[in-house]
Amino acid sequence: MTASETTRDTNFRAYARNWLTAHAVEAPTSDSVADRMAWQGRLGSAGLIGVRWPVEDGGRGLGFDEALIANEEIERACVPGAFDVIGVEIFGPTFVQEASAAQRARYLPPILRGEEIWCQLYSEPSAGSDLAGIRTRARPSGDGSWIISGQKVWTTNAQYADFGLALVRTDPDVPKHSGLTLFVVPMKSPGVTVRGLRQISGEAEFNEVFLDDVVVGPDSLVGTIGGGWKIALTSLMFERFSMSLGGEGMALRAERFARAFTDFPELVDRPDVMSRLGEIGSDLLAVALSGSRTLALLRQDVMPSPSVGLDKVTLVRAAMAGGDLVAEVLGPDALAEPDSDWAYSISFLPGLRSAGGTEEILKNTVGERVLGLPPEPRLDKNVPFSQIPTGGS
Ligand SMILES: Cc1cc2nc3c(=O)[nH]c(=O)nc-3n(C[C@H](O)[C@H](O)[C@H](O)COP(=O)(O)OP(=O)(O)OC[C@H]3O[C@@H](n4cnc5c(N)ncnc54)[C@H](O)[C@@H]3O)c2cc1C
Repeated sequence: MTASETTRDTNFRAYARNWLTAHAVEAPTSDSVADRMAWQGRLGSAGLIGVRWPVEDGGRGLGFDEALIANEEIERACVPGAFDVIGVEIFGPTFVQEASAAQRARYLPPILRGEEIWCQLYSEPSAGSDLAGIRTRARPSGDGSWIISGQKVWTTNAQYADFGLALVRTDPDVPKHSGLTLFVVPMKSPGVTVRGLRQISGEAEFNEVFLDDVVVGPDSLVGTIGGGWKIALTSLMFERFSMSLGGEGMALRAERFARAFTDFPELVDRPDVMSRLGEIGSDLLAVALSGSRTLALLRQDVMPSPSVGLDKVTLVRAAMAGGDLVAEVLGPDALAEPDSDWAYSISFLPGLRSAGGTEEILKNTVGERVLGLPPEPRLDKNVPFSQIPTGGS
């Protein structure tokens, strides 16, 4: 229990802890996606994920505090959380806010039951940081359906996904942010091809996704035609929240790094190691405290400042510094799979510098919107997308 917890929080923590203690033996111990999804369903029916979703959408209808407590208790119980973080943490809350009642009824409960997996079809080979520059097109078919063609990249979990939420261009003749629309794409539709991309960690979590004349029905439209950018931004905000408030859930706590050294008591006499560990610990603590401040604002329905983006920057930098320190002290053993707790984190963490917005872009946002620095030149701002010169022209 933390100092600021209310009785309701304390009761919820006790409930979560008891449930996890009783059911931890059922948690999957392998990476099997089927087992992870079955466990996601167990967490969903216990109300330990989707905690903030309304009850009619299958959630618990509770607040940010309880959601954070559930994450903390899952981490404390040393069991996995949701496998489909994109469905549970990003698109679920976005749909609660932005999707039609029929879409909420169709798509939200199966996420919490662990029955359907989602992927985010946003980034493209020539549009990552400049997401509004995407080129995947959707054309009306004439009977109310839409035909989607283009290529996405970096698509986490596309190889398992049942659905993707695709940001596509429906009108190239208006400025780039205005002509974008979001559609739900069933990933088993004819014309969808998923090709894995292998990472340095050895995993292939990301994919290229090719969309060749994929037909989606009118009920696939989320929001309005041309209204996709605002909803995509909402989903990106949930993505950043889950990353900056979720340091606990991502097992990036200071204690985890300190624990790595418990077999080496002699390190206490190494001021170089101890001071680096101290810096990492204080950065991670600062992120946790900043997360509490964000939570306090959210409780009062106050939108946090864009400066929360710096939490993610600090979290990832500190965790990478922690990984480097572990690798230096433990030597090659730190990377020896399958026993190492660290091999995956050390090779995966650098990717988190880009996921959910790169460090440079987050800093640009803080510079412009918090510090009031002059904005970047945006020469394409009011120009119809079709008239923006492309590379080489
Ligand atoms: C772990 C991981 C998971 C991901 N999962 C998904 C997913 O499921 N779905 C999805 O759609 N995408 C996903 N992405 C993609 C992610 O959103 C992009 O990597 C990110 O938006 C950056 O785009 P980019 O890789 O094209 O880099 P670019 O935009 O090409 O940037 C390259 C470099 O240039 C810098 N840069 C670019 N513009 C500026 C500027 N204006 N000022 C200063 N510097 C600049 C960037 O900071 C970066 O260092 C994932 C990425 C990672 C790493």
